Amino acid sequence: MSDMTNPPLLIVGHGTRKLEGVGQFTALAARVRSRGSDAVPAVEGGMIELARPTVGEAMSRLLAGTDSGSGRSVVAVPLMLAAAGHSKGDIPASLARERVRHPGVRFAYGRPLGPHPALNDVLETRIDEVLAGADRAGTHVVLVGRGGTDPDANAEVAKVARLLLEGRGYAGVEPSFISLAEPSLPAALDKVRRLGAGRVVVAPYFLFAGVISDQIAAGSKAFADAHPGVDVRVAELIGDCDELADLVLERYREALAGDIRMNCDTCAYRVALPGSAGKVGFPQTPHAHPDEDHSHDHRRSDAGSVALVGAGPGPEGLITVRGAELLAEADVVVTDRLVPPGLLAGLEDRVTLVDVGKVPRGPSARQQDINGTLVDHARAGRRVVRLKGGDPYVFGRGFEEVLALREAGIEPEVVPGVSSALAAPSLAGIPVTHRGMAHEFTVVSGHIPPGHPDSLVDWTALGRLRGTLVMLMAVENAGKIAVELLEHGRPADSPVMIVERAGARDQRRVTTRLDELGEVIEASGIQPPATIVIGPVAGLARDAGGH
Ligand code: SAH
Repeated sequence: MSDMTNPPLLIVGHGTRKLEGVGQFTALAARVRSRGSDAVPAVEGGMIELARPTVGEAMSRLLAGTDSGSGRSVVAVPLMLAAAGHSKGDIPASLARERVRHPGVRFAYGRPLGPHPALNDVLETRIDEVLAGADRAGTHVVLVGRGGTDPDANAEVAKVARLLLEGRGYAGVEPSFISLAEPSLPAALDKVRRLGAGRVVVAPYFLFAGVISDQIAAGSKAFADAHPGVDVRVAELIGDCDELADLVLERYREALAGDIRMNCDTCAYRVALPGSAGKVGFPQTPHAHPDEDHSHDHRRSDAGSVALVGAGPGPEGLITVRGAELLAEADVVVTDRLVPPGLLAGLEDRVTLVDVGKVPRGPSARQQDINGTLVDHARAGRRVVRLKGGDPYVFGRGFEEVLALREAGIEPEVVPGVSSALAAPSLAGIPVTHRGMAHEFTVVSGHIPPGHPDSLVDWTALGRLRGTLVMLMAVENAGKIAVELLEHGRPADSPVMIVERAGARDQRRVTTRLDELGEVIEASGIQPPATIVIGPVAGLARDAGGH
């Protein structure tokens, strides 16, 4: 292949807010340009976020210099150390956008830089620089990698640590991670201290300056301050250097030759590694690291969606046709305690089931977790069904989730469900209205007792009403509520029916009268979920032969 026919090289970096890091990236691109001058007609660097030039700008520059005939191609090399989310997901996503913008241009995509012997040699040089003659045998090295949710990428950092140990004479090399993976930098430092280390070199496995290099320096200093007996030194980053430029050119040549040896045998995107459930077969998302900028919105996938679906009260057949349709198409189902188990049993294996009924912690933290889960999965391009018992808007916090989704720019579809407020009485054999008997029904939550400062219910008015009162979440406060209703006019002998676990195989129904409600609930051991119906219609249960 003559040099003239070689395609231009697009170096794709992550980007950083730190000018120093952007400068290093730009300098490296220039270095690659000069070292590759014989073989590469053009070199441009672009960043996927946080800094300029963007990948799109770099592409435009590259193509401006070449003729616009067919058969143009570009080699893209990710400037990433490890094959993690950025090189597996974000860069292909940004290249996909360039494909759309430049139809007819073919892309060859090179593999990430590491692990590579040349990088280990650079690490060794950086460690030597900071050792300044101090002996290696008395030096423990703590290698710091990014850390992420991809166990394979984390394992690569451990592999680099191991390779760095080979034949170099250090007392030891420990891998550690900045976030999301263990051990953390402080944990690894503490480990080598307990192993008796007198001198530690913290070696960042990072290319350029950024928020993280500051964190590494700060974490190392904090450790050094706390342990004055240990000589703690921080090595420079890999940085803009000839070795790195030559490695980029090596990846360029590999990609040209179609020799892309991705490390895929144990890749979390291919097999379900511990902690990576939900990745296999799913489109990948930008990784939002907790300690970094979160504005990934510009790369949000359009394909994701959230539907808030009412599951009905118990028998699984009471979900609506639309609800069942969405459930069958879902990639992720986020469910509650009250959802009929039969509905979930029918889900395909590929579906990720998130049971938020089991999430511990306080109720508001939990709600935030739920909202976050919905947003994250939708942004990852998944079809999410948020399944709620009964109807999503009847005492189900459904609208809170809608508001949170809207805030995140996602408009959910809401599919009403059969509420237990109507279904529980019906499944237990009574109507909520009956001609000549009850021309109204009122649905009330009993989770806050009468007289409580947070109560929004006018119990006095309900005492005066003659129609049907359907009470949800009222088992605990039923006695107090009965007293209040009696005081404000409901007759003592008002019929009452309690339905426990309506629609389930062990559904139970208990009938009584208003002045005995508290005692009967206690005596019969009624437990939530139960619906309490007060009013003349409840008397129809007695007629129908209830106990
Ligand atoms: N959104 C749900 C209600 C959530 S509040 C709906 O529309 O059905 C939870 C309350 O609903 C429970 O405390 C109970 O009062 C009632 N409930 C839910 N499922 C029930 C069932 N299977 N049988 C009786 N009551 C039920």
